[in-house]
Amino acid sequence: MTTRVVVPYTRLHPATAASIAEHAPHAELTQLAETDGLAYWRLLDTIWRDGRDVVIIEHDNALRADVLPSFDACPRLWCTFPYQGEHALIPRGALGCVRFRGMLMTRDPDLWMRFDRRHWQRLDSELSTRLMHPPFTIEPCVHTPPILHYHVYA
Ligand SMILES: [Zn+2]
Repeated sequence: MTTRVVVPYTRLHPATAASIAEHAPHAELTQLAETDGLAYWRLLDTIWRDGRDVVIIEHDNALRADVLPSFDACPRLWCTFPYQGEHALIPRGALGCVRFRGMLMTRDPDLWMRFDRRHWQRLDSELSTRLMHPPFTIEPCVHTPPILHYHVYA
């Protein structure tokens, strides 16, 4: 079965769009209003409750041919590809290119409802902190090599 792929975006980078069209034409491109800081939280809460295996690719990352097969071949619950940030590789708890197994989400469907901080800039640290501590206590499985990231730092 083809894994669900969701591409949340405010400004979809042309290179991201092209890579999605080539490697995941079934992806769900989901536009979020730039003025709504909580839109990403609502989307991820809905995805988490849905409880199906899912890959999330954020709007300025490039999906490469090997990414989805690499996720599919890995049994771990929380997998990620790193990418270059402004000064170093983005922290491994980031949401830019990540796969969650349904088995992880169905363990705690209400997880996102308990987030103290729901603004999009805080979601990766909120989630990774919660997953790395009890009752989950899991570490992200980091796949390589890093994917290309097109974010332009002002
Ligand atoms: Zn993995």
